[in-house]
Amino acid sequence: MQIDAIAPAVQTLQQYFATGKTKSIAWRIEQLEQVKKMASEQEQAIMQALKKDLSKCTSESWISEIGFVISDVEHTIKKLRKWAKPRKVSTPLLAQPGKSYQMPEPLGTVLIIGAWNYPFQLVVSPMVAAIAAGNCVVLKPSELASETSKILAEIVPNYLDQEAFTVVEGDIPETTELLKQKFDHIMYTGGEAVGKIVMRAAAEHLTPVTLELGGKSPCIVSDSANIDVTANRIVWSKWMNAGQTCVAPDYVLVDKKVSAQLIDKLKQKITAFYGDDAKQSPDYGRIINDRHYARISSYLDNQNVIFGGTLDERERYIEPTLLLNPDDATPIMRDEIFGPLLPIIEVDDMEQAITFVNKRSKPLALYLFNKDQTIEDNVMHNTSAGNVCINDGMMFMVNADLPFGGVGNSGMGSYHGQAGFDTFSHLKTVMKRSYMMDLDVRYPPYSDKKLNMLKMLS
Ligand code: NAD
Repeated sequence: MQIDAIAPAVQTLQQYFATGKTKSIAWRIEQLEQVKKMASEQEQAIMQALKKDLSKCTSESWISEIGFVISDVEHTIKKLRKWAKPRKVSTPLLAQPGKSYQMPEPLGTVLIIGAWNYPFQLVVSPMVAAIAAGNCVVLKPSELASETSKILAEIVPNYLDQEAFTVVEGDIPETTELLKQKFDHIMYTGGEAVGKIVMRAAAEHLTPVTLELGGKSPCIVSDSANIDVTANRIVWSKWMNAGQTCVAPDYVLVDKKVSAQLIDKLKQKITAFYGDDAKQSPDYGRIINDRHYARISSYLDNQNVIFGGTLDERERYIEPTLLLNPDDATPIMRDEIFGPLLPIIEVDDMEQAITFVNKRSKPLALYLFNKDQTIEDNVMHNTSAGNVCINDGMMFMVNADLPFGGVGNSGMGSYHGQAGFDTFSHLKTVMKRSYMMDLDVRYPPYSDKKLNMLKMLS
């Protein structure tokens, strides 16, 4: 889309919203069915695009992108009528007889800006929530995953109501132009720096934002953990999509007593999953572009690499790599790694691990591998994170009833399941009074007697 076509395209959607058509539950369900149809019928084309963008394998493309979206749609269709119903609350004596409730209503026309690492799911899943809530949507997929962006621009108009949905492809100029428009909500997924740009632009129009950002997600392993299963789950969560996952474990804090055992198991599992040469594995991805390849590989400078470390610039391949006890001041411990390097930091006890986590910004995810209830209580009460998973990696993502979102620098707001529906809805407060019993205690002229009555009724 040409830049000067962006404003008129947004206006078209706004005009369509004003007709009220998107408010009908039947229309919403029809569009959701179409999203499911699109994901199913275009599965091969989407998978090919993901392969070209990230060398994403078929299984991961299904688990984390296409299948994920299909389950999301199915869950949403099943629950939509319930979510859309007025939500009753109690009414105080003073307002009796009367009823009080919150009535969900769509916000209007919303903008969804996605990141490149799960380039299909990260725009389509928020769109599912926005459709469920009855909105018109502008999708802005990430230009870094250009093949997926292209396929989305091709298929969305073929399946969905073209007056309600549009895909705007492009780079910073297109996103900047989009951000000049007045939307009713913006959901942005990506890094912190652009998150600030989005929030500043939204402030101009007082547009509410949901920011799905990232950060350094810690993985804490206590000496009570089942090390064998822990290693399986860490390796799966870390090296899916070659570590380019917002909720991938960024680093491991392990009790010294079990660190050697954990390192051995991690090495074994990496080899079991991806073979002796991960470069040959059909299940192992590549880094999105040269800039990220250079950034991630530079983290290896002057580090104690204890496994992996092989690079191939031409293929943008970085081997699954383990590093031991990196200096806290080095870039790998300052930045979000967002790639296939896993620093392992040995700690004396869990208190040291908690202090380590709390010295940094609040992460998007925190993982605790442990069987000791006292340790679990201590970590849960004394750390903060957007999402926590105990004894597994990113499995919390498969539960559509769990809202997903960050806290502090890892983001604001949430989605998935009802949280997504609520994010794209306004929960309108309604009180309906009866004409019966028009008590005059609240009306002037006031008196002490009336005031005493009011005190009793409130
Ligand atoms: P990105 O580069 O794909 O950017 C995201 C979007 O921002 C793109 O659509 C892009 O066009 C737009 N953009 C980029 N620069 C812009 C600018 N100057 N002005 C306006 N728009 C601009 O994404 P990224 O930042 O590389 O993503 C990586 C980050 O995203 C990581 O921190 C990761 O943890 C986070 N992330 C979070 C989630 C989540 O769900 N919380 C999911 C995926 C990624």
